[in-house]
Amino acid sequence: MKKGRDAVQTKFSLLQRYLLISLMALFLTSVWSYSAFQDIEQENRRIVEEAIPIANAASELLRLLLDQELSVRGYTYNQDTLSLEQYEATKRSLAETIQIINELDDRHPVMQELIQDEAMPLIRQMEMFHKSQIRLVESGDIDMANARRYSGIAYINQFRAVDAAIREEIDKIIQQASLRSDTASSSAKWVIVIVVGIALLLLMTFMHTFRLERSKQALIHRSLHDALTGIWNRRAFDERFERMWEEVAETGDVIALLLLDIDAFKMYNDTYGHLAGDACLERVATTIAKAVGEDGMTARYGGEEFAVLLRPRHARQPKEIAECIRQAVLKLNIPHEGYQPLRKVSVSIGVAEHAPAPDSEKADLIEAADRALYQAKRSGRNRVSIGKAV
Ligand code: GH3
Ligand code: MG
Ligand code: MG
Repeated sequence: MKKGRDAVQTKFSLLQRYLLISLMALFLTSVWSYSAFQDIEQENRRIVEEAIPIANAASELLRLLLDQELSVRGYTYNQDTLSLEQYEATKRSLAETIQIINELDDRHPVMQELIQDEAMPLIRQMEMFHKSQIRLVESGDIDMANARRYSGIAYINQFRAVDAAIREEIDKIIQQASLRSDTASSSAKWVIVIVVGIALLLLMTFMHTFRLERSKQALIHRSLHDALTGIWNRRAFDERFERMWEEVAETGDVIALLLLDIDAFKMYNDTYGHLAGDACLERVATTIAKAVGEDGMTARYGGEEFAVLLRPRHARQPKEIAECIRQAVLKLNIPHEGYQPLRKVSVSIGVAEHAPAPDSEKADLIEAADRALYQAKRSGRNRVSIGKAV
């Protein structure tokens, strides 16, 4: 029986252990997925932060080219140093802007292509044109330079198309980045919601098994205890007795058994009624168990009979314990008018001990205690009788 009980307990705690492991795994997964999605979000934020400066730089290109064109045109017309200085300043700004755009990496292939294959050749052509205009003015060929004064506008017009394409691409980059970021963060949130949901389910299952385990323990308790008196029942006694007998056979210790019977209890029931009888039984049972204490187990053996099984190395002598019980019951002073001459509830106790021997049997010890109890009854009740050792 003990083995069976332990097996059930192990199975339950194993289930609970699995549940705990799953819970831990789920929490770890949620932490992991959260940090993973955060990485994606961070990456996308970086793209957005990168894309905006690129967009700003790219949108500057057309304006700078126009400024350059106007400065050169002014220089051709007036041959003044201010226009030339303006041209040089714009050229420097243009070089800086191109440097920012050149930092574009492989993540923006279309943008890279637009800049390298479309924008840069046009910028270089314009630069060559402007240089040739300046050279013409410097060499004094003003008429020739004036004749070509508006030719630069053709490059600007060509560049407008490139500028539009660049802006479109920048819009796309920003849109894609923010979309990826949104998707990633909402996925992360969903993963967390689902994981937490499953974790809660597992927690509920865990608590359910915990409650099951508790009610199972309650059932086991009920199956081993007497409903009326709350002390151990006959089945618990039989189990413990069996185990103790086997242990004693190995250790060579001595077991002592006390059998107790309430005196004239039939008369008590007849006088006070069955319910009062029940209450009396309960009080007597509790009193016996208290008097025995840690020295042994007290069980309801049947009807108004009790058995006390003393531990192999009990502190007090069996006779001493029996005497203590007898007096404790008397001290309850439960009136029992018809029971003369005592007129209060008492118990008779038979004591027997088992000294291990290869041919002795459990039943012999019970019989010895029973005979001692009969002896106590025969000698006038309310007494302890010691039987012969088995
Ligand atoms: P003796 O001193 O020889 O033991 O006399 P007795 O009357 O106690 O002996 P007997 O065995 O004839 O009577 C036992 C009585 O205990 C009979 C039964 O009605 C009563 N009894 C057994 N179980 C219960 C119970 O659970 N509740 C109540 N109220 N009475 C019970
Ligand atoms: Mg009886
Ligand atoms: Mg009796």
